[in-house]
Amino acid sequence: MALNFMNTEINVKDLKHLNIIINSICRLYNMTKGKIEFPAKIQVYKHKRSRYVGSYGNNTITLNTSYGNLPGIFAHELAHYNHEKTSLNYIKMGKKSELINTGVTDFSLIEKFYGNKELQRGIKKYVCTYALSSPAEFIACTFEALSRGRKIPLIIWKYYKEYDGPCADVLKHLFKD
Ligand SMILES: [Zn+2]
Repeated sequence: MALNFMNTEINVKDLKHLNIIINSICRLYNMTKGKIEFPAKIQVYKHKRSRYVGSYGNNTITLNTSYGNLPGIFAHELAHYNHEKTSLNYIKMGKKSELINTGVTDFSLIEKFYGNKELQRGIKKYVCTYALSSPAEFIACTFEALSRGRKIPLIIWKYYKEYDGPCADVLKHLFKD
């Protein structure tokens, strides 16, 4: 079987970081049974003053090593990258300010998300508070939590699937009550 990450260029200054990235690629590839897609380029740099821990876009994932937890940040950005690629509604799943910035006026998905008390409670309890900020962050944080082996109940999977979380069916067995 061809590995779909063979075409990914990895740009690092430090071999330690290269090791972490390769290790993460293998783990996430296995976790998703090869269904996750890797971008054309992954770059790792150190930038103390950057506002961004990590970013994705232009077929590139960029990670800032100043924050530590490179595997977690990588999994998080990779989830955003795949979510954007595979969900037609991705553009409507950002924070309200992001939607306004990109000219999106349909707030129905985020309003449904913020108004769902069961989901909000579940996210707070089992994922993280940052995941409350938008459906896109909920998906990325949940994928990240799974990659760290966190135990997340099935009710969260239901929403992970509803909001087009990447590889939802392949990942279902990792959610347990
Ligand atoms: Zn994010």
